[in-house]
Amino acid sequence: MSVPFYNFNDLHTPEFKAELFERFSKIYDTNGFVEGEYNASFESRFAQMQEAKHCLLVANGTDALEIALEAYGVGQGDKVGVPGITFYATAEAVLNRGAIPVWIDIETESGLICPESTQRVIEQHKLKAIMPVHIYGMAADMEKINSICEQHNVAIIEDAAQAQGAFFENGKPIGSTHNLTTFSFYPTKNLSAFGDAGAILTQSDELALKIKTIRNHGRSELDMLGRNSRCDHMQAAVLDLKLERIEEYNKMRKTAAKHYHTTLKAAELPITLLNDRHLETSSWHLYPIRVANSEIREKLQAHLQKHEIGCTPFYDQAMHQMKVLKNFKEGETKKAEELAGRSICLPMNPFLKEEDIQKVTSTIKAFF
Ligand SMILES: *Cc1c(COP(=O)(O)O)cnc(C)c1O
Repeated sequence: MSVPFYNFNDLHTPEFKAELFERFSKIYDTNGFVEGEYNASFESRFAQMQEAKHCLLVANGTDALEIALEAYGVGQGDKVGVPGITFYATAEAVLNRGAIPVWIDIETESGLICPESTQRVIEQHKLKAIMPVHIYGMAADMEKINSICEQHNVAIIEDAAQAQGAFFENGKPIGSTHNLTTFSFYPTKNLSAFGDAGAILTQSDELALKIKTIRNHGRSELDMLGRNSRCDHMQAAVLDLKLERIEEYNKMRKTAAKHYHTTLKAAELPITLLNDRHLETSSWHLYPIRVANSEIREKLQAHLQKHEIGCTPFYDQAMHQMKVLKNFKEGETKKAEELAGRSICLPMNPFLKEEDIQKVTSTIKAFF
């Protein structure tokens, strides 16, 4: 019995297909190609769910980050704080704007951006913006980070590509702050399109208008040019339909995460688990465990793969260790370097069965 990392068969059921094809048929019949009624419906419902005033759909998650930077006026030569551990799109968006990434260190227990490092890096470098990442689906400590950035007049873009439906510790949803918050709806994310899509959330009417203008070639009363980052009507129809299930599916992920957590904790293995305080609030996009070093990680990965268990080493390099980013050395990277290569993400999706989790955890126990 194999345990796959993702599970699209149980996500895309025959019932889902029937409902979706009805929508596609309507789009076909009305020639509703881009920015149609499902775009409007999704934007209003997703904004409501995440407690933002506006949701603006765009073409993908990386565009969402780039457009957010542009909306804040970040461009050529500006410095932007990026956590040392993230998916490379976060840094890529900064480079695509002609801006310079400055590394902010992470907390080893979670991989989330470290508020103390944020403070030091902001004091030492003239940053125009920072991009905290709600990594694996856990919320970064925005209360502390907001107050540091407010004092120094630094804009914040929250990269929530992995955190649809996640919550802050105070119970508020991600997207409810006064920052720009960006999402990716790539097929492997918790809330996913049938291809590419992304979104930006904001409480500001002014920024919402700017983002709308940028995503559609500058078409508005604003005197500016933009680009093409519209979201197809078909992708919006998928997202709008899937939105009905996201809360239920995130709860199913949480049940799986808790099951992994209690079983692995009880086994007393030489591994580190995420802190208990994230159990209730994370969107559980990924379930990482950490081992002592990268050799053990590689061996454990091979062992799991031999037993047909899907797993991925997110993230095996810190940003500044990537060959293509080696010219960017400013900031703090010590803990990111310590953490990189030691994490392995176990199968995580809403449809994991009890016996799947039993198999994964007993295979890990057998390895040690
Ligand atoms: C997936 C992801 C992105 C990029 O999303 P795309 O839709 O692939 O452009 C950005 N940041 C993080 C943290 C991600 O996980």
